[in-house]
Amino acid sequence: MKFDVETVCIHGNERIEYPYGSLSVPIFQAATFTHPGIGESTGYDYTRESNPTRTELERIMNALEGGVDTVACNTGMAAIALAFELLPPESHVVCSEDLYGGSVRYFDTMGERKGLHFTYVDTSDIQNIKDALQDNTKALYIETPSNPTMQITDLRKVKELAVEKDLLLYVDNTFLTPYFQKPIALGADVVISSGTKFLSGHNDTLAGFITVADKKHAEQIRYAYKTIGCCLSPFDSYMLVRGIKTLALRMERAQENAEKIALWLQEQPHVAKVYYVGLKDHPGYEVNKSQCSGYGSMISFRVDTEERARKMLEKVKVIAYAESLGGVESLMTYPMLQTHGDVPVEQREKLGITETFLRLSVGVESVGDLINDLEQALSD
Ligand SMILES: *Cc1c(COP(=O)(O)O)cnc(C)c1O
Repeated sequence: MKFDVETVCIHGNERIEYPYGSLSVPIFQAATFTHPGIGESTGYDYTRESNPTRTELERIMNALEGGVDTVACNTGMAAIALAFELLPPESHVVCSEDLYGGSVRYFDTMGERKGLHFTYVDTSDIQNIKDALQDNTKALYIETPSNPTMQITDLRKVKELAVEKDLLLYVDNTFLTPYFQKPIALGADVVISSGTKFLSGHNDTLAGFITVADKKHAEQIRYAYKTIGCCLSPFDSYMLVRGIKTLALRMERAQENAEKIALWLQEQPHVAKVYYVGLKDHPGYEVNKSQCSGYGSMISFRVDTEERARKMLEKVKVIAYAESLGGVESLMTYPMLQTHGDVPVEQREKLGITETFLRLSVGVESVGDLINDLEQALSD
């Protein structure tokens, strides 16, 4: 029987019976496992390598992404760093110019120290990627929608180029999650997610995932994973299994709220520009529609003055002024100072991440309460 995505969130590709008929996955809070005999194993030896609670999470996440294998890491950043173990030193990578700030920090400092080299371009235009290719280019690294300016990249077109030039295609799927977007079906070789965001969904647990589409990559990633040890704990694995059960409900409701808020923001005199993929005048609207089943619930917007941006962050009452995104609670951030504080100033200004630019992660509260809150926070 093939399950729809809502069912996969809850059961993976099949419903598993846990010991004693427990409906929820047991938390195997164990670092080590006894051997039944010399050279024998129960299937589990040591939790850095694998743990039954984590295996269950990886099974469900892998079913959602449609990969060959998925590893659960302790953070999204750990997953990103681990995923680059697939590339030999002196590899060049072309990436989206508008990326999660932590990724840029890793690429430009520790990535470079490992002998990896990165060029940032606007990947919404395939020609920019072609122009940036070098003899040693080995991979493309894409965020779509990008963070925080919500640019959309055509994954099918990027895949064509990757096949032609023999490049690995990495996609960071944090913003839409496999509920709305399945990069592997569109040709991605490696999908990365911060599980801290929508997947966990409650702003209470850090996690990260790497899903790969190829057996050889799966072996390489598993080897690096057990060697480095950036594994998700049994308890946090349980938290993620629990969070993902309601992914479909939360994604739908947050998106519904976000659409209403984006339309409302557009009408406000103090709002200069709204960046939301679900708006028909968004430049990536059609491409996004062709490759995923939703737009998500991340909105960025520009207000008229720096003073208003700063005041808004202090005045919001239902919405919290806090880093991160994707939880049931709505959060507002100041990308210039927070998530993108480590992105070089020229790059940031080119993207428009300036003093008047705010990012809103829409949660699942009453949309009326959220709009009332934004209204009072925007007013003089
Ligand atoms: C948060 C985030 C990350 C990093 O994940 P952590 O769990 O915070 O380490 C990577 N990519 C994107 C798009 C993110 O939003």
